[in-house]
Amino acid sequence: MRRPELIRTIAELRARLAPHRRAGSIIGLTPTMGALHAGHGRLIEQARRDCDIVVVSIFVNPIQFNQAADYQRYPRDLDADLEFCAARGVDYVFAPPEEEMYPAPLDTCVEVARLTDHLCGPHRPGHFRGVTTVCTKLFMIVQPDKAYFGEKDAQQLAVIQRMVRDLNIPVEIVPVPTVRESDGLALSSRNLLLSPGGRRAAAGIYRALQAAETALAAGTREAAAVQKAALEVLAAHPEIRVEYLQVVDAVEMQPVPVVEGPVRVAVAAWVDDTRLIDNILWRP
Ligand code: AMP
Repeated sequence: MRRPELIRTIAELRARLAPHRRAGSIIGLTPTMGALHAGHGRLIEQARRDCDIVVVSIFVNPIQFNQAADYQRYPRDLDADLEFCAARGVDYVFAPPEEEMYPAPLDTCVEVARLTDHLCGPHRPGHFRGVTTVCTKLFMIVQPDKAYFGEKDAQQLAVIQRMVRDLNIPVEIVPVPTVRESDGLALSSRNLLLSPGGRRAAAGIYRALQAAETALAAGTREAAAVQKAALEVLAAHPEIRVEYLQVVDAVEMQPVPVVEGPVRVAVAAWVDDTRLIDNILWRP
């Protein structure tokens, strides 16, 4: 098992990737914030299958956190992440220190309108601007042919796809399905922060989404009724505090009153002091 090369600076990463690019190698990027788990693993494995050179970035991006406490307690374990990447044949791990990515306060940012107006957008002011700005920087630094994003963060995926389309960024965005624990809870680095009781209760989030799916499959089309079916499940879990649970169209991320095309049922909820998100895709 060959450990991936750990790279800390933009200049070094560019220097390493240039010969691969000249040789015509397909370069794949999986952007992450580390504390890698099997959800990230699925993105990396897909990149390994599709690409000649696989780069995993590990950077807890301060500008996408709207709460300082959340940034500070975000799990970090670079040694474990390097082992994880080694086991999956990653070529380069790009883990820049904060000063490398943000040597000076930014006067430039990238912002996607409209798709960020609902779901996580209003609840996390500045979050998506931080995500789109850091992803643009990573795309400019790595210049990948393909970049891998999880459907677990469906709004993020839609926003990145729109940004790449609107700005003609020459990268193919590859969506990867959500990986779940055996009880349905979507894998997330933040699950590490849950208490044992919170962890058990958190499975209720996916059960609520399944209730929405059952309602849709049974022919329910009013979003309010779909929402109600899911919220009833969550009401049985006092440990779960719902931030939003909405039915949105799967491309524009706008709430729909009636389900007529592909939708996502998306939820954000607090368990203990940890905010979890999840969603399902449903096509009529
Ligand atoms: P993060 O490190 O949480 O920023 O996530 C990095 C990438 O991994 C994002 O594209 C996420 O959508 C994706 N990801 C995180 N958790 C999962 C999961 N359970 N299944 C699939 N992809 C995931």
